Amino acid sequence: MKKLPFVTKAQIEEIVKKYPTPFHIYDEKGLRENVKALYDAFSWNQGYKEYFAVKATPNPFLMGIFKEYGCGSDCSSMAELVLSEAAGITGHDIMFSSNDTPLQEFAYCEKLGGIINLDDITHIEAVEKSVGYLPKTMSCRYNPGGYFKMSNGIMDNPGDSKYGMTDGQITEAFKIMKGKGVEHFGIHAFLASNTVTNEYYPLLAKVLFEKAVQLKEETGAHIEFINLSGGIGIPYRPDQEPNDIKVIGEGVRKVYEEVLVPAGMGDVAIYTELGRYMTGPFGGLVTKAIHEKHIHKEYIGTDACAADLMRPAIYGAYHHITVLGKEDSPCDHKYDVTGSLCENCDKFAIDRMLPEIEKGDYLFIHDAGAHGHSMGYNYNGKLRSAEILLKEDGTAQLIRRAETLKDYFATFDCFEIGEKLLK
Ligand SMILES: *Cc1c(COP(=O)(O)O)cnc(C)c1O
Repeated sequence: MKKLPFVTKAQIEEIVKKYPTPFHIYDEKGLRENVKALYDAFSWNQGYKEYFAVKATPNPFLMGIFKEYGCGSDCSSMAELVLSEAAGITGHDIMFSSNDTPLQEFAYCEKLGGIINLDDITHIEAVEKSVGYLPKTMSCRYNPGGYFKMSNGIMDNPGDSKYGMTDGQITEAFKIMKGKGVEHFGIHAFLASNTVTNEYYPLLAKVLFEKAVQLKEETGAHIEFINLSGGIGIPYRPDQEPNDIKVIGEGVRKVYEEVLVPAGMGDVAIYTELGRYMTGPFGGLVTKAIHEKHIHKEYIGTDACAADLMRPAIYGAYHHITVLGKEDSPCDHKYDVTGSLCENCDKFAIDRMLPEIEKGDYLFIHDAGAHGHSMGYNYNGKLRSAEILLKEDGTAQLIRRAETLKDYFATFDCFEIGEKLLK
């Protein structure tokens, strides 16, 4: 499928008059249509809720849009809890799925009334110590170990993953917590990431639903919800077939009716914690070609770098690139498209066939909406770029300004250096 940006060259030329490149831009229309379709796909389940994985795109403006549709937030750190608070998301609309958790974060989650999802059995004591008691509703993260295989050959390796509790531990955790007065339970697992197949969620659901039935039988616990977590992927490459959320929702329904309903658990709520699926395709990194270099290869240098979008540098991830205004030009030039970090891995594309690029062209780097800006960092003294929301009416709203040198120097408590540089 041909990948086309959700903005035109003309729109970007207008936006850069006010906000210079590089910046991340998000498509409000796409975000809204996608969350609507998600809720529609799971509307068969009464208690269904999406807890947006804040780490994907930690911006209270976007979290606020999702909140309109009933979404909560999935947090894993103090800052993410505070972001939820800022977006007006509190109480059981917060799911705290953290690991290796500092004690004070459990206490803050409880202060906001969030649901704590324990990554480890020793965290029962940690919560008691931090909060002073065990909340009435608690969740546990499950790790079945071994391999998790799908029919298309894709697999992941839970046995090698640091998250969750083993079979024995989760039973033990339920018994301990029930003994200490916990009344409502949830279970959670995240067994494969960025799955571009409609099969993942139903397979995961089967594992979790069977586990839930077993836990209910073994411990008598009331299981209120089952959290399928994140992992639904997006087609980064143009030749990939996108997931069909309707088919995924129906697949989960079928397993629900086969496993939970006969066990008398037809009232269990299904939760998800999607991140990538919620924002990935609806965000792009816009950058300007500022340099051409002809040595052993042909290079196009941009005004962005891995500090704006790290996935290609750290995972070798493919991100499609469109040269704005040249959507229909032949891709007859082979380039490495680079950023300016002093790291040779700072390349948005390697040996990529693209239309001829001239200095001043705007490049749209696709699918940067999740785990894009949020992974930003300050290596080489690079400042984090702005985030812009392309509204449904076509106007652009700045939803996070770009960092300035003043921000960079704010953590050196040495004003003389800062002030000199800022003059
Ligand atoms: C990262 C993460 C998610 C979101 O994952 P995506 O692949 O972005 O959907 C959800 N839950 C937990 C606990 C996570 O760590």
